[in-house]
Amino acid sequence: MANIDVVVIGAGQAGLSSAYFLSRSGLDFVVLDRSPRPGGAWQFRWPSLTLGATHRVHDLPGLPLGVADTTRPSSEVVSEYFAAYERAFDLPVRRPVGVRSVREGQDGRLLVETSAGEWSARALINATGTWDRPFWPRYPGQESFLGRQLHTADYTSREEFAGKHVVVVGAGASGIQLLMEIAEITTTTWVTRRPPVFKEGVFNEEAGRETVARVDARVRAGLPPGSVIGASTGYPVNPAVKAAMAAGILDRLPMFDRIVPEGVAWDDGRLVKADVILWATGFRPVINHLAPLHLREPGGGIRVEDTRAVLDPRVHLVGYGPSASTIGANRAGRTAVQHIRRLLAAPEAGA
Ligand code: FAD
Repeated sequence: MANIDVVVIGAGQAGLSSAYFLSRSGLDFVVLDRSPRPGGAWQFRWPSLTLGATHRVHDLPGLPLGVADTTRPSSEVVSEYFAAYERAFDLPVRRPVGVRSVREGQDGRLLVETSAGEWSARALINATGTWDRPFWPRYPGQESFLGRQLHTADYTSREEFAGKHVVVVGAGASGIQLLMEIAEITTTTWVTRRPPVFKEGVFNEEAGRETVARVDARVRAGLPPGSVIGASTGYPVNPAVKAAMAAGILDRLPMFDRIVPEGVAWDDGRLVKADVILWATGFRPVINHLAPLHLREPGGGIRVEDTRAVLDPRVHLVGYGPSASTIGANRAGRTAVQHIRRLLAAPEAGA
């Protein structure tokens, strides 16, 4: 077992930002990442999600992405950028190393159990994102469906759906993008729980700030965070959206009541036959490995102030709740390291 000051779990935007500030702090640290390559969750996103189609990938601290080809897949561009970043700052990233659990260790330390052994840490930065925990809502009859069901996280290309009728579920950015993409080659039905929000003009910063403040209030109250990217800030009405609206592709139906073997059905008797149901229903924070620390509140979330878990100041969550965006993760990495430096400057418990 290795003794260390800080373990960072995850090498996405949040983990790398944290690692950058840790590398300037004089603290001894390691970044453990279970993905096979640099890039965090970006490495797994579908090829048609080009850099130009993202909301925006903010530069990591200290090394800008520079001028990048916006027509290339973000999975490639961001993975190359993260790889260059890890090299430029000589960041101690170990992969593939999966963290199985974090529990109370000895002498006030945290015991980090992984696929590659154990680390005993004085503090922890959890930067595990959400990609590994796709959210599938449950509807009656779901198991009886004779077609294929998949989540955004499984999507690779629309060509798989040629000649099939696809029901896309979800009003977020991924749902809208994939719906429009698939509708170019086959027939679709769009179903959303809440009416989608479209915004004319450029990104509304004020709406963005309000969303972050709302999510921040939720995590301070120990509730599950919700998303700061997408739905509530509104999807921009660009020429492709206008064309899709005119073609009726974005005419949405309310959520169906149940799934039947041949499609989806509503209590008013309506039935839409379908070959595929694509669940673009978002993701949840990957925090199960923290369960032995008992940080979850009755509300279902971890209560977090700034980045610090209120129930355990050794544990910081970066890229969680209000910082679950590339810009938020950058800032949160700095904040977490500031807190940890102060915490570890105090004499070690039991020393
Ligand atoms: P991730 O990039 O998910 O990195 C987490 C890392 O932790 C992964 O490498 C994972 O393998 C690793 N990990 C997880 N669990 C463990 C474990 N137990 N042990 C070891 N390693 C582990 N945000 C924006 O700001 N702009 C955008 O344009 C944007 N577009 C998005 C598009 C999609 C489709 C989605 C789903 C999200 C998007 N987001 C966007 C939100 C985005 O995911 C975050 O902003 C950011 O990229 C997440 O970074 P992260 O470091 O928190 O997580």
